[in-house]
This record gives sequence, structure tokens and C-alpha cells, in this order.
Amino acid sequence: LSSEYPAEVDIPAPRELKKHYDVVIIGGGGHGLAIAYYLAKYHGITNVAVLEKGYLAGGNTARNTAVIRSNYLTSEGVRFYSESVKLFQNLSNEFDFNIMYSERGQLTLAHTDSTVRAFRQRAEVNKHFGGRTEMIDRQQIKELVPTLNLDPGNLPVLAGLWHIDGATARHDAVAWGYAKEAAKRGVEIHQMTEVEDLVIAEGRITAVKTNRGTVGCGCAVQAVAGHSSLLAQKAGFRLPVVSYPLQAMVTQPVKPFLDPLVSSSALHCYVQQTSRGEVVFGGGSDPYPLYNTRSTLDLKESLIAHGIEMFPFLAKARLMRQWAGITDMTPDYSPIMGASPVKNYYLDAGWGTWGFKATPICGKTMAELVASGGKTPELIAPFQLERFARFQQVNEMGATAASH
Ligand code: FAD
Repeated sequence: LSSEYPAEVDIPAPRELKKHYDVVIIGGGGHGLAIAYYLAKYHGITNVAVLEKGYLAGGNTARNTAVIRSNYLTSEGVRFYSESVKLFQNLSNEFDFNIMYSERGQLTLAHTDSTVRAFRQRAEVNKHFGGRTEMIDRQQIKELVPTLNLDPGNLPVLAGLWHIDGATARHDAVAWGYAKEAAKRGVEIHQMTEVEDLVIAEGRITAVKTNRGTVGCGCAVQAVAGHSSLLAQKAGFRLPVVSYPLQAMVTQPVKPFLDPLVSSSALHCYVQQTSRGEVVFGGGSDPYPLYNTRSTLDLKESLIAHGIEMFPFLAKARLMRQWAGITDMTPDYSPIMGASPVKNYYLDAGWGTWGFKATPICGKTMAELVASGGKTPELIAPFQLERFARFQQVNEMGATAASH
């Protein structure tokens, strides 16, 4: 995790908060910053403040394992995340700043017949909606990842889902890029500024109360990830979100051996190698809700055991770091974007373990929503909060699992 950004990331030093902004964005993670950038860039809305209680993008944006992919299960999911992958591909040019976008492909392993069947369905849905995903057999997997153990324990690998568009990027750089480009256009980014309460009059948000005073707003967006349901509570409504810790860990750098991102939901583990040679391990969320970013020995032991089943020679590698973030999980493993029960108060929440990859498209569509005064863009319409009242969940559980 890094709180220090490079010299070329020019963000004006903190100043006094104004009395009023057209838009207040609560949460200075990748999502909040992306919304601010697209508001300024495409809609000319620059009287905007991003309020961040800690340091810039020090929440889940700094803690994620940076898997970017669009091989989801539902048509709504594939269409949405495919647009995000397209935006990612041009972000370095757009920012004139290297976000280290790296197209590696993502391989998900099937160890049972039922997973093979589910993967076939995903491959077809993906192709239909523009993603590049196909089924591959054991021989093809061997050629793609020669170092992978195809017979871990009693779970031999039967086939794989190969997603050519799978990629990774430097998470901090994505946030810094959005921050510097938003600031260049006049957006104010205030770190160490916590929103403690919301002022709501006649069902409409009028101001936010911060540790640095009250700030009026034309509208507000909450983009606070793990703290989503706490802020919604202050707005006077409940979100179908429960926060769980999600941990990850990284080894010392080793020689390059792994180009694609590899994951297995049966083994609750995914593995990737960074451009510096470190091996990143991630898995499922902790099994109980908690607002705490501590690391646990339990998780380390079980995750590494599975990682070593996949790549036995890593038994000799040394772990360098272990960390956690607080993830805002929804019952259908899809996000919540759009209007809320409070007028002019918009939701960018429920990103759980999968929201880094959505940063660009979520920012772009949420900016459209805000700029239009509440007209929901078609691409995010399926993800509105009201889907839970209409029983129209977008079930991505099977396509999220240990892949994020
Ligand atoms: P954040 O970056 O958490 O930003 C929210 C900000 O809001 C924080 O900085 C916080 O300090 C601030 N905040 C909270 N409350 C307040 C308040 N009251 N006032 C002011 N500020 C406030 N996703 C993927 O797509 N791929 C992955 O590989 C992946 N791996 C992950 C691995 C781990 C270990 C974790 C923890 C998450 C992972 N995710 C992944 C999920 C992803 O990190 C998040 O969904 C995404 O970063 C959410 O971005 P955000 O900007 O909404 O949240």
C-alpha cells in the first residue's frame, strides 16, 4: 500500500472547503475519483469535491489484486464489464501516465463435470455479448501454463475457461491517473475529510457534515465500498450489503514463470505473477462480517496450501506481505448503482470483491447519471437498488467466487 504518489501526479495541496459544491463525492477511491473525472471531462461539471476520510485511494483500491476481466455469467454483467475492459485499454493514453495495463489472459480451472457445464455456458454468453472466452482442454492448459500441477490432491483439472481479455494494471496508478486528470480540470480532492453525517430536508440531500465543517451540495454520490451500509444508514435507508474482510498476500520476487492469471474456485485460490516477479495469492472472503483489515494465520495457511497444490515449487518461496480490505458484498454478487430513496443522493456500492475492474465504466456511467439529474444509463439500469424489491437480481455468484 502506498500513500505517496509520484511527482507527475499533480494534485493541489489541501485547501479550505467551499461552502457549497454542485456535486459532493464521498469516498476518494478509484470509483469516486473516476466519477469526478468523467463529470469534468464529458459534462463540464467541475464544481465538484471528492471527500476522502483517509489518504487518496487507500481503501480497497490500494488493496485489490487487480484482476481485470469480463467473463461473467449474465448478459447484463458481460455487457457492463466488457465496456470497462475497453476503457482500461486506453487509460494510459488518456492520462498520459502509465497505469501498467498488461493483457495476460485469465485461466479458470474446472475440476468437476458440473463446473465444465457451467463454463460452457459462460463461454457462450461471453461470445454472444462481445467477450473473448473459450473452453480449453488439459493439453491446451499444459501448453499455456507448463508449471501448473494438473492433478492437485483428489481434484484433477478437467478443462479450463480461457478468457483472452483477462488483464491486470497497477491499481494505485489508475486512481492517481483519475485524480490528476480530475484535479487538472478543477475538481477539488480533500483527503483526511470524513463525512460524518448527511443533511436531508424534504427527502432530498442538501449538505454533508464533515470533520472539517458542513458543506452544501446540489447532489451527492456515495462511493465508500466497505462502508456503504454505514453511510446509507445515515441517509436513512438500508442496503442489502454485508461487509466481510477479504485478504490477499504476495511472495518475494521470483523468476518469471506465469503469464496468465490462474484461478480455481474449487481450490478457493487464484494466483498471478506481477511484472516485478512477486506471486500474488488471493481467495474467498473471510467467513464472517467484520469492519477490520487485520490479516489472519488461518487464511494464510489455507490459501497457501491451495496455492502450493497448484504450483508445488512455490513451497520454497517466502511470503513478503499479507493484507486485507473490507468488501461490501451483495446477495447476488452484482453491484448497486443508481438512484437511492433520497433524492439527489446516488449510490455506487456493493462492489464486494470485484469492483476494481469496473472503475472506468462505473465512473463514466455514474457521471452520466449525475449530470442528467437522475436519468439512469441503460448499461447500469439492471444494477439499480430497486432490483431487490422487484426480485430481479443479477446473479453472478458462480462467476465471481475466487476469481474476483
Ligand atoms: P475504495 O477504494 O475502498 O474507496 C472508498 C473510499 O471511501 C476509501 O478510501 C475510504 O477511506 C472512503 N470512505 C469511507 N467512508 C467514508 C466517509 N464516511 N467519508 C469519506 N470517505 C470515506 N476487484 C477486482 O475487480 N479485481 C480484483 O482482483 C480484486 N481483488 C481484490 C482483493 C482484495 C484483497 C480486496 C480487498 C478487494 C478486491 N477487489 C477486486 C475489489 C475492489 O478492490 C473494490 O471493489 C474496489 O476497489 C472498490 O473501489 P472503490 O473506489 O469503490 O472503494
